[in-house]
Amino acid sequence: MTARILVVDDIPANAKLLEARLTAEYFEVSTAFNGLEAIAACEGGKIDVVLLDVMMPSMDGFEVCRRLKADPATAHIPVVMVTALDHISDRVRGLDAGADDFLTKPVNDLQLMTRVKSLVRLKVLTDELRLRAATTHNIGVADLLSRPDTLQEKLPHVLLVDEQTSSAAHICALLDGAAEVDLAMDPQSGVFQAAEGGYECILVSTNFTDFDPLRLCSQLRSLDRTRSVPIVLLVGPRDDERIIRGLELGINDYLVRPLDRQELLARLRTQVRRKRYNDELRQSVSQSIEMAVTDGLTGLHNRRYLDGHMPRLFERAVARRRPLSVLIADLDRFKQINDSFGHDGGDEVLREFARRLRKSVRGIDLACRFGGEEFVIVMPDTDGASAEIVAERIRREVANVPFAVGEPRAQVAVTVSVGVSSLMFDGDSVAQLMKRADIGLYEAKKGGRNRVVARAA
Ligand code: GH3
Ligand code: MG
Ligand code: MG
Repeated sequence: MTARILVVDDIPANAKLLEARLTAEYFEVSTAFNGLEAIAACEGGKIDVVLLDVMMPSMDGFEVCRRLKADPATAHIPVVMVTALDHISDRVRGLDAGADDFLTKPVNDLQLMTRVKSLVRLKVLTDELRLRAATTHNIGVADLLSRPDTLQEKLPHVLLVDEQTSSAAHICALLDGAAEVDLAMDPQSGVFQAAEGGYECILVSTNFTDFDPLRLCSQLRSLDRTRSVPIVLLVGPRDDERIIRGLELGINDYLVRPLDRQELLARLRTQVRRKRYNDELRQSVSQSIEMAVTDGLTGLHNRRYLDGHMPRLFERAVARRRPLSVLIADLDRFKQINDSFGHDGGDEVLREFARRLRKSVRGIDLACRFGGEEFVIVMPDTDGASAEIVAERIRREVANVPFAVGEPRAQVAVTVSVGVSSLMFDGDSVAQLMKRADIGLYEAKKGGRNRVVARAA
């Protein structure tokens, strides 16, 4: 996994040193020697991770970080603070400024690589979501990012997995008032609890007597329901080997005992903030994708979706030499319904028709509102004879029971005409298949409406 890393340090020799080490690992590295240069580089949009020196003249690293995190255009770029001072207060200041991680000078090679790699992995995910959100236009990602911190609205919901009573009690006390904590004392049932509980972060103690905490982490990473929940490992001193393997397995962060409350809270906050951000993005993306392919009035798929999906259904049927049929249904004399009951009355009829339509087709059938009062149903694995039966069922469902329209309710007789066509193998195409169904529909209208006409060829 390659990525573009920006190294920011006012002392060129320091920057060069980090650059050389990262380049050796095949990262693309650029450098900046002060805060303003760093911000400009990030605004350029080509940076995946920033390694940011804390002590710089004119604008220090904290301020640079704050500015990056305050700007929606750069807020999603992970920032690692590089500090010469091994002071916990400095780390906390960095995390408070919105930094995603920190490293202490002299920078340990393994820590450098593992932290950078794990942040790059997260960034790749966020980028993809941002891209999808942007292409579907429907939401402002900028809005989402500039929203006030949701952490202030709701305490993070955390699962602590810890076998030892005293250690668990100590950690719960540290988190008191800052998180809503559930405790799992048995690692195996912890996995189940994690999958059920809707947690925003899982803290895993490594002090189990006969259970490998990394196995727990890998289980959490492999389950769909916990895959995107951040995991923070709580390790003992000199547990580097375990940290490195944990990061390879996909844990998000670690803390070394004895735990410092400020640091614990800051790291938890960072993880939960990022998770909430990604969750919101993911949700808006799927919402906007859904909106883009759904007809707002009826909830059926819309024409755009049909246009995208129909060729795939067609290709698949041809490739497998399986039947495929299409219905085009058009409400009869719909203009008269609008004229008598107004546009809203017409809309009611369309909604009710869609409901009856859904009831009459199978889950694998693709029912779309093609436009106006015209609907298309694509039926995989369905030959012409079966398609005619379905079309006839739809026609009856509509004609047999009047539609309730308006206030007070009026019972309105509605009918529908349906054209049917089926795939023919030699030289057939989507366009011809649709055309034949349309001709069937035309003939049904011409023949007196409220009827089904199948076009064999
Ligand atoms: P035919 O039996 O030949 O299909 O006659 P028709 O009146 O149904 O067909 P025509 O195409 O002349 O009229 C369709 C009408 O559907 C015209 C249009 O105003 C109305 N319509 C289209 N979309 C909507 C909608 O979303 N809501 C409502 N209420 N009416 C719509
Ligand atoms: Mg009509
Ligand atoms: Mg029409």
